[in-house]
Amino acid sequence: MKVTEIVSHVLQYDLPEELGYSQQFYARRSAHLVEVRTDEGLTGWGECFGPGNIALANKAIVETVIQPMVVGRDPVDRDVIWHDVYNRLRDHGQKGMPIQALSGVDIALWDIAGKIAGLPLCKLAGGQFRDRVSVYGYGMMLRREDAACLAARFKDESVAIKDAGFVATKMKVGLGPADDIRLAEAVRRGVGDDFRFMVDANHCYTTSEALEVGRALDELGAYWFEEPVAPEDHDGYRELRTRLKTRISGGEAEFTRWGWRHLLEGRCLDIAQPEVCALGGVSEYLKVLALAHTHFTPVVNHVWGSAVAVAANLHLLAAMPPLPGGLYPSEPMLEFDTTDNRFRDELLVEPLDIQGQVARTGGFASIPSSPGLGVEPDRDFIARYEVA
Ligand code: CA
Repeated sequence: MKVTEIVSHVLQYDLPEELGYSQQFYARRSAHLVEVRTDEGLTGWGECFGPGNIALANKAIVETVIQPMVVGRDPVDRDVIWHDVYNRLRDHGQKGMPIQALSGVDIALWDIAGKIAGLPLCKLAGGQFRDRVSVYGYGMMLRREDAACLAARFKDESVAIKDAGFVATKMKVGLGPADDIRLAEAVRRGVGDDFRFMVDANHCYTTSEALEVGRALDELGAYWFEEPVAPEDHDGYRELRTRLKTRISGGEAEFTRWGWRHLLEGRCLDIAQPEVCALGGVSEYLKVLALAHTHFTPVVNHVWGSAVAVAANLHLLAAMPPLPGGLYPSEPMLEFDTTDNRFRDELLVEPLDIQGQVARTGGFASIPSSPGLGVEPDRDFIARYEVA
């Protein structure tokens, strides 16, 4: 079998309302799907992390730079292809968009390998430790309104996420330490004392600001404090980890085993959050997972994007060994965005219906059982939303 063509599909639509996180507001949802076609009719699907115009640039990398390196190759040789592409891209980007682009291609190659073997991705990746994973719902995005309005909104939204059945919730911050602490207090009031909530700063703080917010989160019993400082600031991460009770998480903006090596060796994280659609795909994710476990750092995958990304992550969470193991080990969770996302809810011929599963089971999602990613995107849907 040979790869004949790689096609990127960038999908977009206008959100019903503008949403924000600490770095920007956005009014449009996008997704970047990658389709690898073969001479035997088998097709694999992957996804690249990166919204908006980033997705358009990544499409050019996928189709113009990577495609000529992969056409004619045996799709099952995914590690061979990965290293060949990476070695030739190395001089032009060891992190960021070239690796995001490679990620989508690699995920699609794993989808093909699963379809050839007749095995779901989790079995191909080493085996299925669990047949369902618990799901946490994130929401509580920033809006252009004052802190008091936003706090009231966050409180209501946290209650709604809890009532929807999710096992935990995650909020954004980014107004500045004093207002952010008010937001976190509102969420704790909303969910009550016994419910797990996490706080995501998207790297908007200096270390001293993060300490101020983190001390309040210690008092509120937050479960983790995500990307408190810039991803390059390993010293800041280390200092926060030493001085705060709340777990420090991060890593969604890190790439490949070589980037992750320094983050983990530096003991920067209590919880690692690798993003499979950015860090290099399934091939590289498995190496980063091994590296995280080598450093006894638990992993809760970062998840963003369409149903293709959600499916890939369901398989990877199913195939994740417990760390360190025991009768009642702490289990990984699936990250789930509760805000409007048609590319997750309506893309597939048979939708995953995570929200329905969560409501029915008290917070769990099952692992797709068909070969590969086990999902089939609807081509009519893609045609309707495709902008490039
Ligand atoms: Ca995040």
